[in-house]
Amino acid sequence: MNISANLKAEQQLLKKGGLGRLVILGAGESGVGAALLAQQQGYDVFISDAGGIKESYKTVLQKNNIEFEEGQHTESKTLLADEVIKSPGIAEKNELIKKIRAKGIPVISEIEFAYRYKGNSKIIAITGSNGKTTTTSLIYHMCKLGGLDCALVGNIGYSFAMQIVTNPKPLYVLEISSFQLDDIKTFRPDVAVLTNITEDHLDRYDYNIQNYINSKFRIVENQQKGDVFIYCQDDETTIKNISKYTIKSTLYPITMSKELPQGAYLANAKMHLKWKSEEMQMSIDDFKMKGKHNQYNSMAASLAATAVDIRKEKIREALQTFESLEHRMEPVATIKGVEFINDSKATNVNSTWFALESMEKPTILILGGVDKGNDYSLLKEMVTEKVKAIVCMGTDNRKIHESFGDIVSLIVNTTTAEEAVQTSFHFANKGDVVLLSPACASFDLFKNYEDRGNQFKQAVKNL
Ligand code: ADP
Repeated sequence: MNISANLKAEQQLLKKGGLGRLVILGAGESGVGAALLAQQQGYDVFISDAGGIKESYKTVLQKNNIEFEEGQHTESKTLLADEVIKSPGIAEKNELIKKIRAKGIPVISEIEFAYRYKGNSKIIAITGSNGKTTTTSLIYHMCKLGGLDCALVGNIGYSFAMQIVTNPKPLYVLEISSFQLDDIKTFRPDVAVLTNITEDHLDRYDYNIQNYINSKFRIVENQQKGDVFIYCQDDETTIKNISKYTIKSTLYPITMSKELPQGAYLANAKMHLKWKSEEMQMSIDDFKMKGKHNQYNSMAASLAATAVDIRKEKIREALQTFESLEHRMEPVATIKGVEFINDSKATNVNSTWFALESMEKPTILILGGVDKGNDYSLLKEMVTEKVKAIVCMGTDNRKIHESFGDIVSLIVNTTTAEEAVQTSFHFANKGDVVLLSPACASFDLFKNYEDRGNQFKQAVKNL
């Protein structure tokens, strides 16, 4: 931890009398966690949400005497802040954020705030465009099996700050999005994992991929010699950019294309793990999770677990038992010889590419939703090879028709999960697969990707 920087900031605030006024924008899981931690530490806390606040969170805030508002951000109250914690959901172009920045009020993320109070605990932090949740959960599974007292926190759904207030642990396995990395200052994970970088969320980065790449690489910006950085050597964007940043930590790459002296690689259907003088091998047929993308996730997770001294036998056991998560290449059912797979979490082109890559039967692909700047040409080869029909499920499907009209003869539009499933089933023959892997966000027709996946599964059950 950068203790001197934090001490300096705190001393300045103490001069003003107390730790100062902390305003938290966004009263979701991370905001409410930050409010509790700030209150415990002695800040004067105000939390504000432009939308509604969940009843359960309101009860927590009331019980702890934390001042809050919903349905608006009162500007006068916000601009009085000594420091602002911004929810990752609020964009920089938000008018209030612009005013906060113009006044020179420091803005941080909940991750940065929680980091100040983690004490001597260690952090394994995982970011990337795809595979964050899977890799984070797998690392956690390995650490638990290895007997470590640890917590699963961050973007995965449990606030890091809340964990620190309610149940601090010696090790945190932390999933971080690029938005949370945007507002760090001193955050320094002991072990950092960058799974990959592909176009995503470009709407939040002025449609400039370099801004998004810079954001992802911030995971290593405060790392020091002795810390560990795990990244994918086969990921073009990572490799093109890695030399642009000063990285002091020790590098542990993963790859499927060559042998490595340090890191993890795949050769002859075996994962090889090389860590200092230690070595481990494991056949990929023994991995419970299938698909090439999960082999990358498994290599990254195994290195991260090794970095916190989990033994080889436990890593092996974890890989043999860890099942893929809901909505990620989740087998739903086989009906009249037609297999249905739910990959609703595929919200960008790259994850859909990996889903198609693992298909071994003729595929009917359910695609579409809200496109965050997709370049569908990246899917063309895979679609040509594997897809016999595309069922669009979204309000605006023009780009899909334009991109694939010349290579797939059957492309139809649907507007509900029920209709998409019935249409796909109608097109399918025995031995085919119907794959929901939309490459898009879901909020044109659904509440979120879980809702989309659940409606898909329900529609399959209704067949
Ligand atoms: P994230 O938390 O980064 O969104 P998830 O583990 O939830 O990642 O997986 C999201 C989607 O990406 C799923 O469709 C999943 O099958 C796919 N996926 C998982 N790991 C990878 C990977 N390493 N590379 C590409 N796609 C992946």
